[in-house]
Amino acid sequence: MQALRELPAVHRLLDDPVIAPYEALVGRDALRSAVESELQHARGTHAVPPYAELVARIGVRLEALAAQSLLPVINGTGIILHTNLGRAPLAREALDAARDIGSGYSNLEYDLLEGARGSRYARVTSLLREASGAADALVVNNCAAAVLLILDTFAKGLEVIVSRNQLVEIGGGFRLPDVLERSGATLVEVGATNKVYLRDFERALSAKTALMMRSHPSNYSIEGFVHDVDAAELVALGGRVGVPIVEDLGSGAFVDLGEYGLPRERTVRDAVGDGAALVAFSGDKLLGGPQAGIIVGAAPAIARLRSNPLLRALRVDKLTLAALAETLRLYRSRESRERIPFYAMLGASLDSLRARAGAYVEKIASAQIVECEAFVGGGALPKHGFPSIAVALPVASPQSLAARLRGGKPAVVARVDERGVLIDLRTIAPEQDALAIAALEGALR
Ligand SMILES: *Cc1c(COP(=O)(O)O)cnc(C)c1O
Repeated sequence: MQALRELPAVHRLLDDPVIAPYEALVGRDALRSAVESELQHARGTHAVPPYAELVARIGVRLEALAAQSLLPVINGTGIILHTNLGRAPLAREALDAARDIGSGYSNLEYDLLEGARGSRYARVTSLLREASGAADALVVNNCAAAVLLILDTFAKGLEVIVSRNQLVEIGGGFRLPDVLERSGATLVEVGATNKVYLRDFERALSAKTALMMRSHPSNYSIEGFVHDVDAAELVALGGRVGVPIVEDLGSGAFVDLGEYGLPRERTVRDAVGDGAALVAFSGDKLLGGPQAGIIVGAAPAIARLRSNPLLRALRVDKLTLAALAETLRLYRSRESRERIPFYAMLGASLDSLRARAGAYVEKIASAQIVECEAFVGGGALPKHGFPSIAVALPVASPQSLAARLRGGKPAVVARVDERGVLIDLRTIAPEQDALAIAALEGALR
């Protein structure tokens, strides 16, 4: 044991070749504070550890700290919009726009023509009008925020009628009845779980009815002895009694997924065309863009949302707006749309996946090419798997191999079934194949 005054100086530790490289990962302040905390700890124990041990202990602190930031993950699950893995990967164009706008100043709220304050939402609004067919649009932090803003604006202290078959909990704490309660609106449930009729809505109308609301069931479906009210019927009723219809679409497709051989999902255009006053959906689900809550609809309704002071607390930043606008621009043709990773993954042919899988089995002797099912995810078509190709690693204990893959750099999240550990190639970008192969080899070693 050495005397306390022999503790090394802070600057010597900061410059140590083991410690210094962590500055890039955790920043100068965190680096200094890890060093100071460890020195404090040594003083507290009245024991000065050898220099090498001190450095190793600081290394452990920094390693833990570095792991607190986000890590890239290779998604081998076959679930394209995996909420736990960050939903939609962004298109190169969207990322370039975010980098260009984020690295300097922009006309975020500045009108270059007049040389005066401008609107944060103007540019993205015109793209959203074009893509949705709606008269006006607004963007907030996420779809939950969109629903909250709508309810706060139109339904505080009033009643909102919702069918019992649509009182959804999405996960991650979004439960429609709870959001309604938080916004100060009263939920009026109508119908039975399996059957709801237009007359149920009619009977529930009162002088306090502010809205009738539809919500996409997202992660469940009700089958068998069922009856539902479609949007157009509800809009017609709303028109007769002067109550607007709001639709929480959740995933918000701009494209008919039928083009990709999947069942038809209700699109944003469908909802707008049916006459909903406001339609809300996420930016990072089927749209394939950044996290955002998008509201499209009638101009007077959007104008009321825009004047709600709550909007200031829910607003999106310039990076999101830049990435969202570029993503929307890619919708102008099918060819450019498939530069959005979601559509590239959805549209990849089985032959192309099989060819890529060939490169994996060439490198990894024990690997096999197998057929499997991929899923859209993000609350769209929850029960509808579609054909995909995976690399299977048949091992004695697949769970422990899956755990080693998760602990790798980069981490690989795989699926396990009776065939072993499965890596679905549909959710892996072709550019990531070499990295993924190396990660698999590392975990198998
Ligand atoms: C996903 C979803 C939401 C929540 O969207 P976020 O963008 O994650 O806030 C809300 N409503 C429905 C119907 C959904 O599917």
